Amino acid sequence: MIETTETVLAVDRLRKVYNEGTDAAFTAIESVSFSVSRGEFVCVVGPSGAGKTTLLRAIAGLAAPSSGTVTFEGQVLHDVPAKLGLVFQDYSRSLYPWFTNGKNIALPLAARGVPKAERASRVSDALEAVGLGHVEKKYPWELSGGMQQRVAIARALSYRPELLLMDEPYASVDAQTRFDLEDLVLRVRRELGITVVLVTHDIDEAIYLGDRIVVLSGSPSTVREVVDVPLGSERSQVETRSSDEFLILRNNLLGLVMPVRP
Ligand code: ADP
Repeated sequence: MIETTETVLAVDRLRKVYNEGTDAAFTAIESVSFSVSRGEFVCVVGPSGAGKTTLLRAIAGLAAPSSGTVTFEGQVLHDVPAKLGLVFQDYSRSLYPWFTNGKNIALPLAARGVPKAERASRVSDALEAVGLGHVEKKYPWELSGGMQQRVAIARALSYRPELLLMDEPYASVDAQTRFDLEDLVLRVRRELGITVVLVTHDIDEAIYLGDRIVVLSGSPSTVREVVDVPLGSERSQVETRSSDEFLILRNNLLGLVMPVRP
């Protein structure tokens, strides 16, 4: 669902070379450009090693590009912007086991200077938003994997992000939980009006979630194509995934990501 066409994120000719200037120099991203409108859900797909995580880290301001720029809300990024939420694949390493779930969310807020009284309400609002209002005083290890990933999503939401970046967030959970979490993110995104960029190697997931899909080539990556997903904003795991439109998109995308055989 695109509410405006205001560009919130622009990636322009981004190139990333690891260990630049050494014998171990490795070009992970050749040149990637795309933009994201406010409120839009953009998925980035590509084979393993295509540089998806590298791209997301550059968009998050965690890794400087070798050349090219990332512009967020009109400013070229040089640091992690405050209005950004991040969710990584490995929830088990992203939550501190010795802190309660509530404290896992509150600590980064404290580091960002959010006053104590406001922290409490943000923690409970964020946990409510992911349907986990009752786990604030429990510890991460008392929860299932899917619930821990929901806590990690709640933590990202507690920053009140303009942009939510997700790196293969559902790769470590079972299929049923994955469907639940996909629907959760679609709902939260609709309710809070946030912009989302999600990277995944799963084409079906990209189609189910996205308004547009950026298809990366293999390493070193370029943008092979940007595909529109005209499936509307209401999606259902059973009906959407079995619709003709979905299957046509799936075939189209498979053709784009499958390696060309000599
Ligand atoms: P993807 O997320 O698409 O699987 P990555 O962004 O993780 O791809 O990695 C892209 C390529 O860059 C891979 O070949 C990987 O080995 C390499 N790479 C990733 N991080 C580093 C690093 N810190 N130093 C050197 N090479 C790296």
